[in-house]
Amino acid sequence: MRDIHAIKNIYLMLLVLLIGVCVFATVGSDRIPFVENDECELFDEGWYYYTDTPEETKELMIPSRFRLLEDEEFRMERRLPQDLQSGKYLCLLSEYQTITVLVDDEVVFTNQRTTEQKFGKSDGTEWLFVPMSSDYAGKTAAIIITSPYASASGKIDHMYYGSRAGIIYTLLKKNGFSFFSGCILLILCVIFFVVYELGRYSGFHWNNYLYLCFFTMCMAVWLICESKLGQLVCSNIRLLNILHFTSLMLAPIPILLYTNSVEKSRYGKEFNLMCWVFIVNFIAQISLYVTNACDFIGMLWVTYILILMIFVTVLISLFVCYRETKSSGIKTYFEGLLGLFLFTIADSLLYYRGVYDNVGNCISVGILFYVIILSHASTVERLVREREKIMAVSQNQAKTNFLARMSHEIRTPMNAIIGMNDMILNENINEDVRKYAVNIKNSANVMMNLLSDVLDFSKIESGKMELINSNYQLFNLLRDVIGITSVTADNKHLEFIYEIDEGIPSGYFGDEVRIRQVLLNILNNAVKYTQKGYVKMKFHCECNGFLAMFTVSVEDTGVGIKKEELGKIFDTFERVGDEKNRRVEGFGLGLAITRQLLDLMGGSIEIQSEYGKGSTFTVRIPQKIVDRSIMEPLTEQNIVRSSSQKSAIEGKYAGKRILAVDDNVVNLQVVAGLLKNSKIRVDGVLSGDKCLSAMAKYHYDLIFMDHRMPGMDGVETLKYIRGNPVNRDIPVIVLTANAVEGAREDFLAEGFDDYLSKPISAKRFYEMLDKYLT
Ligand code: ADP
Repeated sequence: MRDIHAIKNIYLMLLVLLIGVCVFATVGSDRIPFVENDECELFDEGWYYYTDTPEETKELMIPSRFRLLEDEEFRMERRLPQDLQSGKYLCLLSEYQTITVLVDDEVVFTNQRTTEQKFGKSDGTEWLFVPMSSDYAGKTAAIIITSPYASASGKIDHMYYGSRAGIIYTLLKKNGFSFFSGCILLILCVIFFVVYELGRYSGFHWNNYLYLCFFTMCMAVWLICESKLGQLVCSNIRLLNILHFTSLMLAPIPILLYTNSVEKSRYGKEFNLMCWVFIVNFIAQISLYVTNACDFIGMLWVTYILILMIFVTVLISLFVCYRETKSSGIKTYFEGLLGLFLFTIADSLLYYRGVYDNVGNCISVGILFYVIILSHASTVERLVREREKIMAVSQNQAKTNFLARMSHEIRTPMNAIIGMNDMILNENINEDVRKYAVNIKNSANVMMNLLSDVLDFSKIESGKMELINSNYQLFNLLRDVIGITSVTADNKHLEFIYEIDEGIPSGYFGDEVRIRQVLLNILNNAVKYTQKGYVKMKFHCECNGFLAMFTVSVEDTGVGIKKEELGKIFDTFERVGDEKNRRVEGFGLGLAITRQLLDLMGGSIEIQSEYGKGSTFTVRIPQKIVDRSIMEPLTEQNIVRSSSQKSAIEGKYAGKRILAVDDNVVNLQVVAGLLKNSKIRVDGVLSGDKCLSAMAKYHYDLIFMDHRMPGMDGVETLKYIRGNPVNRDIPVIVLTANAVEGAREDFLAEGFDDYLSKPISAKRFYEMLDKYLT
């Protein structure tokens, strides 16, 4: 801290020292000018012209302006000085004029182009350098001026005599301000573009910087052309002329876009329309110019009127917005634009009162002021947005961590509750106890569903939800979905009808788990919100080459949804319908998650509903076909009903031996309970060390391993198991309460053969046995 303080003081002292040295250098040393003063002088005096009375001449005041007709000739003359030097120039400004210079009636210079004019009657504005010679001394010089534009025909600007460098130096001193302002704007334009691109690269879309970039580019080009010094950087006068007018026509569009963004699209439609007006104006003027119907200079008034209109409209809209929102961003922007407007008005007044030879000086200050205010406002806004985003990301991270932890902590005891309860249900118990146990089971399932939904929701919110695609058989997916729904529909005495297209391909590539989740969600809702009648599922598959489109419609004869509430049902935690409906168990997350999952899969969801009569939900999911063999038809016999799972494995794996490793005795009992009557031998051990000793004694066909254990954890124990070549092929399934995104992949990467999340689903458990013991 101290060091920084010391450096700051030293830095200030160095600055003071430097200022002192600069003052000394300014006062005490000779100055060597780049160009001598006598290298350029005004050549405005001594000119005369002939009046209407023959041979009568009149002195010409320069600068001056005559009322002449289109293409009418104006001739002015003067005697050239005796000390005229070769190598020096007479410099004249031609604004859309043809200028011919004669010395003693002999043409010595003309800017009339010999090539045929393609479009535009004249090239534009240019400084003409007429070479002088000592031979012309004392002779009479005549200048003949004509123009295709009446307004330009009689316009005569200052003239200069001197060396080329001297004249350019003088012109820079006179018009350099707007020229250099234009150059600064060009640099700013590049800076804005770089900032925009850097933002885009890091995931921020700061469009305001892009608008600023366009605006500064247009204004830079306009100021450089308007300063009449564009010739210094580009010798193509026609090109400069086109850029001069088109840059002005395009400049208001970024202003409109910027304002629209500041006002948060409050007048989006109107601003859009105004942008189109400028685009049409641009296209119309270019077309008229190219077809030679009219030159830009003749249409300049249209652009001026449009710009004035935009200034006024934008200022009013900003004023109204500020009064309503009191936003400091709008206020700053309003001040910037008002500044530009006032500088523009001041510039026009000074020009028409003859204080300036050309517009631009005041406007360049206005533009710089406007751009600096805007870039400052954009930077402040950007920093605020960035901070908000960083905070949101860290809050989201904290939320996800909390949910992951919470889910882990809740899943562990839930495993015991659900598992033990299942064991109670498998015993010979009296009807009352069975009823209580069934109630426990239902409530535990509700809680598990909520837990999964909240986890899914947090994953989607933090952008961590990813599809895990793999090859799967549609038959298995539909069999499970229909099996589960048949049971729930049966329990409510509802008829469950399903119609599946015949002859559809059997194998697909996609996220089977998520498709199952989407279908179950809609089917569960249909059962949940239907009291009597039926639930009907139609599965239609349309194939196009290697692509298939599943269309699944679920129709019910339930409560239906009111038209005005249809839009709300995809919102999170939003439940609709009457009080009775809301009492049906649910959290209003299911459909929100369903839609997000469908979005991820490139699918869609549609609803048709009639209040009091029923609803039809239709989902479309695109999938890749990987197996074209025809899917086996689904019959009553091959549909697995959840209740029949246990009996399916009874005695099937008699003689096999399984090891369960978990530091929690209850969990070991749950595994043992699930395998009761299966004729499989089950050993349970409480640590990784004991697992290794058990394995040294017996051969196991399958191991279920807990992850978090004191001492050696599941992963370390697995490493030891795999280290022994004898045990290398024994399948080891990790049992864990860690159900967050990516956990499965992490465990598989560690070397486990499969993954079972706690609380153990009996169905998944038996599926594992089928998979690893057969
Ligand atoms: P929930 O957990 O409340 O069922 P969902 O997101 O799945 O949450 O559904 C949101 C709301 O949409 C439900 O609360 C319900 O009001 C309405 N809804 C969904 N499906 C149906 C249906 N088949 N019939 C009538 N209403 C439905």
